[in-house]
Amino acid sequence: MHPDALEAMVEVLRRTGNPSSLHGPGRAARRVVEESREQLGALLDARPSEVVLTGGGTEADNLAVKGIFWSRTAQDPARRRVLVSAVEHHAVLDPAAWLAEAEGAEVVLLPVDAAGRLRLDALEAELAEHGATTALVSVMWANNEIGTVQPITEVVELAHRYGVPVHADAVQAVGHLPVSFASSGLDAMTFSGHKLGGPVGVGALVARRDLGLVPVLHGGGQERSVRSGTVDTAAARALTVALDRALAELPAEAVRLAGLRDALVAGARAAVEGAVLRGPEPGGSGDAHDLDGAVRLPGNAHLTFAGCEGDSLLYLLDSRGIACSTGSACQAGVPQASHVLLACGVDPDEARGALRFSFGRTSTDADVAAVLSALPEVVERARAAGPASR
Ligand code: PLP
Repeated sequence: MHPDALEAMVEVLRRTGNPSSLHGPGRAARRVVEESREQLGALLDARPSEVVLTGGGTEADNLAVKGIFWSRTAQDPARRRVLVSAVEHHAVLDPAAWLAEAEGAEVVLLPVDAAGRLRLDALEAELAEHGATTALVSVMWANNEIGTVQPITEVVELAHRYGVPVHADAVQAVGHLPVSFASSGLDAMTFSGHKLGGPVGVGALVARRDLGLVPVLHGGGQERSVRSGTVDTAAARALTVALDRALAELPAEAVRLAGLRDALVAGARAAVEGAVLRGPEPGGSGDAHDLDGAVRLPGNAHLTFAGCEGDSLLYLLDSRGIACSTGSACQAGVPQASHVLLACGVDPDEARGALRFSFGRTSTDADVAAVLSALPEVVERARAAGPASR
């Protein structure tokens, strides 16, 4: 957490007061929540009343996908199609799959190109044929595994031509790229505290007031009855302080982190044969210097190393004090290739040797040097162990 966010959280935690209570401490807590909401709206170019606080990104994604679907099918039972990109986080993919199973939704996984960017032609063709029966489109702003930034304004423009609302999971984008909810044209957008220097377990769905949303949680009617449950005042405050600091530091941090990312990628390519960057190639106009046109998240480097298991690489690096991830799930003890890499057309065997490095506020040149000094030997050892049998 950003130290300022941590401090703000602890300060609020010391006080009593349920923001739904009518007594003085309750009203004081409510003031903190509403001031936070106002500030969050201002930071994201949204109206305060559009900010629905949730218990994190997964909850906000569930509310968007299920809530919009239920609302749209209630208005027009023919609208049962749900279009999501094939590279979404499971917090979007799984609610969509659940809707297919439990509610008879027709879920369409929209294809991406080799860099993980949504194929707009496929979206256009899908809408041209089925626009009148589509309930919603959900495309993430930026991908958590390979850092690809999606063409959100183009997606919105296409979907709105057919009267279809658009949700974006912006968990990886908010605090890392310039994000304006109003200019994006989006109907709903998810973000999460722990991806931007705030606490785990708090996030929000930013949703236009005229967007129909059927609640997932029923209860006390908080958050304009869309998300019942006592609002976590301390978390709301910490989320707001974290976003404020992240956006203040963003222009300089994006340049710094893109520099670390590029140094790691160049070093890995030079030191390890068969190291392949996945996701878009940064550079050219320079992601770091043209944030509005960024094609890749500044703090994301994703590489595959053919001939070994990502999990072996991960544990070998972990034993040297380097924390990274594979981005793929392990099912029944057998590592699975990531659905994101497979959607990009990466060979399944190559996709198994995947590693994702994420840089943040505390990352330094020395961290990159430590990874690069460990990597050649670690890859050699993992390759000697070979890929696990499937
Ligand atoms: N969406 C994306 C793109 C993410 O990266 C994550 C977290 O890893 C989530 C959703 C889930 O957010 P949370 O951990 O706040 O539930």
